[in-house]
Amino acid sequence: MDFYQNKLTNAESESNLDPLTGFYNRRFLEKKMSELDRYSIILFDIDHFKAVNDQFGHQAGDEVLKFLSELVKRETRASDLCFRIGGEEFLIILPETDIHITKSVAERIRKITEYTLSPSGKPITVSMGISSFPAAGDSFSELMNKTDQALYKAKQEGRNRVVTAV
Ligand code: GH3
Ligand code: MG
Ligand code: MG
Repeated sequence: MDFYQNKLTNAESESNLDPLTGFYNRRFLEKKMSELDRYSIILFDIDHFKAVNDQFGHQAGDEVLKFLSELVKRETRASDLCFRIGGEEFLIILPETDIHITKSVAERIRKITEYTLSPSGKPITVSMGISSFPAAGDSFSELMNKTDQALYKAKQEGRNRVVTAV
């Protein structure tokens, strides 16, 4: 097996994948980031997700997570990398993509989510923070910190919105 084949096998091995959504997990994120030079990120979190569990049950909550991951997969390119990095928190890495394109991708996912019935029978909404490397930070962790603050701001300002990290 040559080097590149080996790399592909590693990326797709089960230890790098979240079983519920099929997205990459946080563990794979650490490995992946050192390989990229230019990229943007979309960090997002479901709004009031606790209420979905409380109203419809944990299993319905899991169905909503799966539904959202399928929607995100459809609306991103094959070259984009999708991660589930927390219970109801996701990250998309868009290699070689500027902040303007990233903003339009984020807005598209946000709107489709808002206007599509989820398996609970009600729509859900998401709040998003976006940023670009290296414009918004010198390292991936700095970028993540700033983007997390942007996501927090999106929540504070009323949720169901996209905020660009500064
Ligand atoms: P906010 O708009 O501020 O993000 O509110 P929220 O309710 O989404 O946030 P909070 O952090 O209060 O609650 C997150 C909820 O997500 C609580 C937890 O039970 C639920 N959750 C986390 N992981 C999973 C999971 O794997 N499955 C299901 N069904 N629920 C999960
Ligand atoms: Mg959360
Ligand atoms: Mg949430």
